[in-house]
Amino acid sequence: MRGYKYREVIQFKAAHDESTVLCGYTEMAKSEKPSANWPVRGRLLLKYSVSMESIQSIKARLSADRPRKDLLEEGAEFFELIRSLERECSIKTMDLLSRGDKSDPTHFDCICAACSLLDDMASCMWECTGGDHSVHRLCGKVSSHSKATLCLLRNGYYDEAFALCRIIGETANLLCLFCADGQELEKWCAEKEKDRADEFKPKDVRGRLNRLGISLPIDEEEYWELSNRVVHANPHTRPQVYNDRDMSMLGSVFQEDGLRSGLSTLTEFLCLTTFFGSKLLHIPNRPKRIITRHINSIAKCSDICLDSYEVEVTNSG
Ligand SMILES: [Zn+2]
Repeated sequence: MRGYKYREVIQFKAAHDESTVLCGYTEMAKSEKPSANWPVRGRLLLKYSVSMESIQSIKARLSADRPRKDLLEEGAEFFELIRSLERECSIKTMDLLSRGDKSDPTHFDCICAACSLLDDMASCMWECTGGDHSVHRLCGKVSSHSKATLCLLRNGYYDEAFALCRIIGETANLLCLFCADGQELEKWCAEKEKDRADEFKPKDVRGRLNRLGISLPIDEEEYWELSNRVVHANPHTRPQVYNDRDMSMLGSVFQEDGLRSGLSTLTEFLCLTTFFGSKLLHIPNRPKRIITRHINSIAKCSDICLDSYEVEVTNSG
């Protein structure tokens, strides 16, 4: 029985979801008609949602015995497909984010505001007090990572967004340690590259924070979960599973669970990075008061108790 190898968009109107569109690297017998029973759980099927072309015309175009394109043509067509999927995912994402009343800030609002604050802090917006600007650069790095995370979330690359969140969480841990013990910052700046890499591994930083009795911005469990799920390759790796069908996805497929969870995680780590960064930098009183007010609003949105962090890092010094 000859099969079709689907590599592009197949519109599939399932009984349970009129607008569902599926495609994937999967074999389907020529005689087999899509039905409400398809997809079968356990197959890797991909849900795209861009084309309104009929399934018959795409089946003809993608049949296994179609003439093969040359490499450049294949690649160029695929890139166009990906771009169109990303555009569609981005529109759905922004539609969702623009809904609701605007009386309370959302995670998205908080992320944008925090990035703005971090950019100001990174660029000595208010005054430059000299020095090596190492903390400024960390603030800039986190702002840049956060903006990239938003791009990834907007385009449906949720796993990759979480991988960047882990790095932001690591930086929050590092800044937290520097707030608790100023000597750690001096050591971090003074060490040679290799010694610094040896002494400030994420695991070691977490260990030192634990010994100081400070709550970790990203703790062992959260770090392990992100590492295992989206960073490290392992035999159970499954890309982009943020849906109630527990299906892996390829391409830019809008998945509300991935978006909401990514925004929430990013807000939490970003809030703490901004909080500890602002404590370490010398910022004049007036802008400092404004920054503190904004950080408190972001913390409220993320249910983070900044007072307890304040007490812990102060008491540990
Ligand atoms: Zn400066």
